[in-house]
Amino acid sequence: MECKKEDNLKNCNCSYSSCDKKGVCCECIKYHRDRAELPGCYFSLSDEKTYDRSIEYFIKTYESK
Ligand code: SF4
Repeated sequence: MECKKEDNLKNCNCSYSSCDKKGVCCECIKYHRDRAELPGCYFSLSDEKTYDRSIEYFIKTYESK
């Protein structure tokens, strides 16, 4: 199966532009899952920019909306 990186990048809201996993969703998910985190696309544009990818922060921001 061919990687859909270019398509994925159209829907990626992660502002950490130098990350080598940007657009490679399988690697992005694994990286954050291994750290008990979520990828940037789970967060709003402003919350994503904090770079806090913890599940705790996700729940906190999700519940406040
Ligand atoms: S969410 Fe994390 S792994 Fe994914 S592109 Fe952004 S910084 Fe990289």
